[in-house]
Amino acid sequence: MKVGFIGLGQMGSRMVRNLARAGHEVAAYDVRSAAVTAIAVNSGIRGASSVADAVSGNEVIFTSLPAPKDVEDVVLGPDGVKDSAAAGAIFVDLSTNAPSVVRRLAAELATHGIRMLDAPVSGGVEGAEAGTLSIMVGGDPDVFEAVKPVLSAIGTKLFHCGGIGNGSVVKLCNNIAGQAYALITAEVLTLGMRAGVELGTLAEVIGASTGSNTRLTRTFPRRVFPRMFESPGFSAYLSAKDTRLALDLAHELNVPMQVGEAVGADMDEVIARGWGPLDFDVVARLQEERAGVVMELAQQGVTA
Ligand code: NAD
Repeated sequence: MKVGFIGLGQMGSRMVRNLARAGHEVAAYDVRSAAVTAIAVNSGIRGASSVADAVSGNEVIFTSLPAPKDVEDVVLGPDGVKDSAAAGAIFVDLSTNAPSVVRRLAAELATHGIRMLDAPVSGGVEGAEAGTLSIMVGGDPDVFEAVKPVLSAIGTKLFHCGGIGNGSVVKLCNNIAGQAYALITAEVLTLGMRAGVELGTLAEVIGASTGSNTRLTRTFPRRVFPRMFESPGFSAYLSAKDTRLALDLAHELNVPMQVGEAVGADMDEVIARGWGPLDFDVVARLQEERAGVVMELAQQGVTA
């Protein structure tokens, strides 16, 4: 299919390559011209000079952008998706976005005959690189069927979650749960260490027991234990954005979230400390400070 792709960051730069490898004809754009130049080298991808240039004449348009405001600007801004896509085109937002924004954009685009799906992804940069992402799709089932061949190039687990905006709802529920696991994991590991147990023992035993979760078994061993918070795949800034979007949804619907509010307070603190550009596991450092221990583990058998 003929595809336009906007947003060539950690996720987009990898997804777009998989689209081209699968044989789709891709035009790609980012506000960072260096990202466009880099993607166009030996990839078969055409570097576009603007949003309009990436969108015009294409059947499917993807965005993978940081926050709801960025998606709004690209869709509704001058020479944006709404003005540049042909009637009948399908717009797929892969960003983690607010359901209310997604639904408003879909209604605006529908007035121009452009159909929309929200399709946030999960699986991190490794999943984006390998083309094995989970994709949580909201929107008309017929539109979902129409773009399945393209989505299959970037993900292996495609979930239709219901009407427009529902993919974003599921994604926000998932992400705030994931971040809550980081907090409780940091709490129990620092508790166990203060009580005299080796970090390696705690991680190994809990990782094989009912307290296990992917933060303990996958991301902490890569980031927290070796103290490697720089060059993130998923930044604390974006994780804080997702947490805030989940809490906004909860407030909008009057759903109390006691654990979620605690996650929100810690992510606000992470951003206030200036840790936004670091890896999202950096939140564990707040608990280390509170407990007075550091979860450093030097090659003691816990592997990523
Ligand atoms: P990123 O910040 O690395 O990339 C975003 C890209 O968008 C940047 O290259 C930026 O220059 C570009 N951009 C911003 N505004 C633009 C505009 N107006 N026009 C064109 N380009 C613009 O972010 P990322 O980590 O790739 O994440 C992208 C989205 O995917 C986010 O919504 C994030 O929450 C979500 N996500 C990320 C991960 C992850 O592990 N990184 C995993 C799942 C979902």
